[in-house]
Amino acid sequence: MRILLAEDDIMLGEALQEALIAQGFAVDWLKDGESALAAATTEDFDLLVLDLGLPRRDGMDVLTQLRQRGKEVPVLILTARDTPPDRIAGLDAGADDYMLKPFDLGELGARIRALLRRRAGRARPEIRHGELRVDPAAQRVFLREQEINLPRREYMLLKELLDHVGEVLTRDKLEASLYGWMEEVESNALEVHVHHLRKKLYPELIRTMRGVGYLIPRLED
Ligand code: CA
Repeated sequence: MRILLAEDDIMLGEALQEALIAQGFAVDWLKDGESALAAATTEDFDLLVLDLGLPRRDGMDVLTQLRQRGKEVPVLILTARDTPPDRIAGLDAGADDYMLKPFDLGELGARIRALLRRRAGRARPEIRHGELRVDPAAQRVFLREQEINLPRREYMLLKELLDHVGEVLTRDKLEASLYGWMEEVESNALEVHVHHLRKKLYPELIRTMRGVGYLIPRLED
């Protein structure tokens, strides 16, 4: 899961980035509205966390432009503008949720999970796939009710594939959902993560589509 964070306050941005990474997201952080709009227009993000008071282009304008360009990425507004007309304007401009500063980082994570869950077409918080169960809030994975400990990136990869069961995800898409822009990716990192997941869970869970990417096939009825 890849999140674009648009926030010009350095201290808050750092805290947010750190908290979201710890909650299992890949986070790209931009500090002005113009570059956030450009990035959200040209790249695929699963969610945009958008401050309203941004330099170079106001957050409301970023949101309006994105929707005009037909971008459907879920947007969660973070702002200190707290009058009801502000909130109404934000939601009516196409935001999916709205949090007032100061806010609780745990609550922010929960709201993000709710938005992503809906986007993936799920209402249930847990993900089940055969004998596999994932609890995204706790970032825990169980196979036949035995907990399997996965390092952060393996967890992120599994979650990404499970959010798109039956769909082939390209290497580029998977790498983007596991690593932020600033993070170095070893060329065989993805293969290594897939190898570990197959070993720790079960081999036929993840299918390789040569030259394209990977998928978790739908379960047979
Ligand atoms: Ca700001």
